[in-house]
Amino acid sequence: MANVRTGVARVAETVLTERGAVRPVDILVGLGWIASPTTERRIQVDGAKIVEVAEALRHWAIERGLEERDGDYGDVTFTSDGDPNVERAYRTHWAPAGHVEPEKPRPRPKKLTVLAADHAWECALCGEDGDFFLEGKSGGVCLDCADLGHLEFLPSGDAALTGRARKASRLSAVVVMWNLRRNRYERQGILAEPAAIEQAARECLSDADVRARRRARDTTRRAVEDQRFQGEFAAAIREQFPGCPPERAEAIALHAAARGSGRAGRSATARKLDRDAVRLAVAASVRHVDTDFDDLLMAGIDREAARAKVFDQVESVLSAWRAGAAALDA
Ligand SMILES: [Zn+2]
Repeated sequence: MANVRTGVARVAETVLTERGAVRPVDILVGLGWIASPTTERRIQVDGAKIVEVAEALRHWAIERGLEERDGDYGDVTFTSDGDPNVERAYRTHWAPAGHVEPEKPRPRPKKLTVLAADHAWECALCGEDGDFFLEGKSGGVCLDCADLGHLEFLPSGDAALTGRARKASRLSAVVVMWNLRRNRYERQGILAEPAAIEQAARECLSDADVRARRRARDTTRRAVEDQRFQGEFAAAIREQFPGCPPERAEAIALHAAARGSGRAGRSATARKLDRDAVRLAVAASVRHVDTDFDDLLMAGIDREAARAKVFDQVESVLSAWRAGAAALDA
């Protein structure tokens, strides 16, 4: 016993200096009885020896004036038979009064599902919006508030790439979107750590032209983002201008998406979708399509003058669309 006590005290002093607290597993590592404190579920050390070490540690710790703590190991059990004495021995930590154990990362559900936004929404926690949200108890929650803001969207389409990215990413989520017509959720892709996506891409591309394939991948990603932005933009037009013919709304939205979509980031996307931006885009379309503004420009009339000339015409189409009536003969 004396030998064990001496060994335990020696290791415990070192551990206390390094960690600020002492766990029985640290002692076992220090004594060379196990290889690492990040144990697998079971540690192959004789239960009686663990209790002996724990007793020696208790003796040392009380002499040092340390406090007893119950270590939080979740559902992990240390012994195959769950012997309560041995389990307690493992779980008892020692620390000086006031010592705060470093916080462990919160456990997460195994399969996270994130929804791709297909309508205007607002985060229940911060009021921001975004391309994706999580269904919370009191409404949608943005990726930042859900601690997923660091993840990147990888659209479906390349099963190997998706599989590898998921495997390489410590945290990933499945992205789904509600399909109104089919009345079901449909998978859009995944969210994964950017580095994991890169790594997966490298693995997939190892024997191909890396640059060309990556370009293709980026194009796909952009296409999906553009498509989503286009949908959002068209919806925003219909909301503000119910009388705008759907095909016109689609065309305006397509143009807006082609000019740059959500790629620029969340707040930029929100800005592009606000009422003013939508109104300006629709007004521009009306000016070009429903008035002779373009002809005036071609005739050499300067832009401001041409705008002034067609102003009333544009406004009357806009107010008709705002009121819900399609302007049939603008
Ligand atoms: Zn939020």
